[in-house]
Order: sequence, then C-alpha cells, then structure tokens
Amino acid sequence: MQRNNDALVVLGILFFFNILAWIAVYDLSQPRFLEVTFFDVGQGDSIFIETPQGHQILIDGGPSSIILEKLAEEMPFWDRTIDLIILTHPEHDHLAGLLQVLERYKVDYILWTGIVRDTNENKEWRKLIEEEGAEIKIVQAGQEIRLGEGIYFDILNPFENLEGKEFKNSNNTSIISLLVFNQNSFLFTGDAYKSVEKKIIGADANLKTDVLKVGHHGSKTSTSEEFIEQILPKIAVISVGKSNRYGHPHQETLAILKEYGIRVLRTDEEGDIKIISDGANLKIK
Ligand SMILES: [Zn+2]
Repeated sequence: MQRNNDALVVLGILFFFNILAWIAVYDLSQPRFLEVTFFDVGQGDSIFIETPQGHQILIDGGPSSIILEKLAEEMPFWDRTIDLIILTHPEHDHLAGLLQVLERYKVDYILWTGIVRDTNENKEWRKLIEEEGAEIKIVQAGQEIRLGEGIYFDILNPFENLEGKEFKNSNNTSIISLLVFNQNSFLFTGDAYKSVEKKIIGADANLKTDVLKVGHHGSKTSTSEEFIEQILPKIAVISVGKSNRYGHPHQETLAILKEYGIRVLRTDEEGDIKIISDGANLKIK
C-alpha cells in the first residue's frame, strides 16, 4: 500500500508540473481528447497515448528503431520528452524499440515489473534506465496511476511484486492495465496467456472494456472465450506483423471475436490505428 501511495503522490506532482508547461503552449479554451495510437511496428507492440492534459505515455516500443519514426509523426519536433514509459514485459518485440527511445528522449517516469531476464537487451535496458535518471516504479495489481482529472490506469497484473525474480519466458508477467477516461476504457494486455486472463476476471467479475488490445498478437494462447464473454469489448486491436512466422493472429482467436460481434482492427491491415475518446464516445481514425 505504501508503494502505491508513493506512486500516486509522485504522479500527482508530474501532473502539476506538466500542466504549467501545457498552459504555455496550448490554448486553454480548446477541448482536448484522449488519443490512443496503436503503432504498426511489425511483429510487436507499441502504443502511444496522449491524455487530454497533454501527457505523453508510451506502452512498449516494438522490435526496432521504427518506433522513432512513429513518435516523430505524433510528437512535435521540439518535444523531446515523454512523461511515462510502461514496459509490459522485457521480450524483444516489446523492449528493443524502447532502448532507442531512451537514447533519444528524456523520460520522466518508467513503470515496469523489475523482473530478471537473461538477455543482452535486458542488461542494456537496466543500464539505460539507470542512466536516464527517470523515476522508476515497480508495479503490481491493485495500484492506480492517476494521470489527471477523470483519467487513470488500474494495474491488473502481475498479482505480486516480481522485482528481482528470474523468468525464461516473461509473457505471463506482462503488466495488464485498464486505462479509464470517464466512461471509456482501454485494456492493455501485453502478451499474457489465458491463465492470467482467468485470474483477472476472477478478481473482478465486473471488469468491462470498450477497447481490448488483444493479448499476444492474436495468438491462441490468449483471448479465451470466457474472457471475451465477460469483458465484451466493442473494439479489439491486434498488433501484429504482416506474414509473421508465428501465424499470428490465429484463426481460433479471430473466430471468438467474430462470434461476439466485436469489431477487429489489425495493424498489419490498417497500419497505425488511432482511437480518440472524449470520455463518452470513441472515434476511430
Ligand atoms: Zn509480444
């Protein structure tokens, strides 16, 4: 609980400081929206979020430096800071691009699980986040990260603090977070498997979302029917590379989403997918 409170206080301060910078740059009378962009980074995940208060958040960085081109399209050229980076889990297709982002951008806050994964990219990640001087927060289920008025992340996985624990495959350690903006919500699942989905709906029988980032690139290891039946998203986004060697997304996953009449958007077919929320309604761009 103490850790949780600390995170709230620190992110509260973040909000306060950034609102000052924001006033200087934008016209206050203009309404602002929540924008969530699922970047087409090939086989991997990278999601860019801009809050109504102008905060920039990056969940994962995809497998390559293509993330730098994507950020350049979304951020003005003079903006070299990202408020918050969330690394769902330290596998190549989520982590590699973040190493490039850390070299190029100033990052204020980093949320991750602190697990140990024995790869060179993980060693590099630890070195870079230490050098970055960012505030590092180890997250676990039950924490709430407040981002501004009416907007926050609920952390749903992992269920315990995993800092320092070693994993050979970290998919099930993925940070799962629900981003809530008034009446709208987005569920980010990383690459967690069905066993974790089951724990999450077991812990919260009322969990629902408007937009689901489909787990593990549409693999049949994720997206169980009981999970979809409960959370009932209106839109499902699959972040996946064209003709990838894993055969993602699997037919089983697509069939379940179709059965429940959920609109499916795929980065391999649509390119970048931007969903805009005013807190009550969603618009796909
Ligand atoms: Zn992945």
